[in-house]
Amino acid sequence: MRDSFSRKIDYLRISVTDRCNLRCRYCMPEQGVPSVGHGAVLSYEELFRVARLAVELGVRKIRLTGGEPLVRKGVVDFIAALVALPQKPELTLTTNGVLLAEYAESLRQAGLARINVSLDSLQPERFEQISRRDQLQQVLDGLQAAEEAGLAPIKLNMVPIRGVNADEIADFARLTFKHPWQVRFIEFMPVSSGLEYTDEQFYSGEQIKTDLEQVALLTAEIRQGILGPARIYRLQGAIGTVGIIHAVSEHFCHECNRLRLTADGQLRPCLLSEREVDLRELLRSGVDDQMLIEVLKQSVAEKPERHCLGENYSPGQRKMQGIGG
Ligand code: SAM
Repeated sequence: MRDSFSRKIDYLRISVTDRCNLRCRYCMPEQGVPSVGHGAVLSYEELFRVARLAVELGVRKIRLTGGEPLVRKGVVDFIAALVALPQKPELTLTTNGVLLAEYAESLRQAGLARINVSLDSLQPERFEQISRRDQLQQVLDGLQAAEEAGLAPIKLNMVPIRGVNADEIADFARLTFKHPWQVRFIEFMPVSSGLEYTDEQFYSGEQIKTDLEQVALLTAEIRQGILGPARIYRLQGAIGTVGIIHAVSEHFCHECNRLRLTADGQLRPCLLSEREVDLRELLRSGVDDQMLIEVLKQSVAEKPERHCLGENYSPGQRKMQGIGG
């Protein structure tokens, strides 16, 4: 699939649930967000049908996200079904790691290729302060289980926030001396209003790089084989790598290859645009595959050229947990 700016669209991110077992202050209010309701969430059969057609149209990589994907029962079987598609798409998953120790081995057996784990603090009290849950140890156990299961390379994602956890950038980077992980620092994106976050807390990719340079000599940027938004480096002597994702301060829209499907069945061509196509309505009205294929193609054709974060962007209603971060 090509969009109207000649970008090849071959990556689908599926949010399997909007529910989460953490309440990270910058992502969700304490009481959680009103869940979209059981009937509103696409069934696995519906999600599979959309994924199958997207794969027929050229999607080669599928990432499951949420909410927290591991809180939805049946996710392992769903992965196995997607992996078994004749085109053999690459399956990856983004998780907060809380349930990973329990699932790592079965995820691997189901055919999951790799895993991204989100973690914002290595300090137990701070982890609890940010996520409103005392579960750092579960995440660390999950990382170990993922490593043992061979879900490699593990990508560890951290969102530095000034005055909250940005002082831990060096500690996270030092993990790459012990583990062959890719530790990635992601600029906070003001996607939604009403969260515990102010503009002054923004920590830029440039600042992150300066912090990394204090830890050890940083190699020149490593060119990745596949396109990806992270700028990857290695600290001298490390076995893993570090990455910086300039989600706000630099555009990587020109190489964006993604489509998103929210848990409630909205197809979203751009993370940062409110434009969505209601697939749930269509799926439940009994449309045939051909019609769905046309809608997928149309949605790709309407993918915006770029986002306008940092310019005239106004935060939308959905928080990252509702879009599928
Ligand atoms: N529960 C899973 C997890 O924690 O990875 C998947 C969903 S979570 C919304 C995905 C990622 O989005 C997490 O790494 C989280 O830190 C990140 N995130 C949430 N809100 C964000 C924001 N406004 N800017 C940047 N990253 C954000």
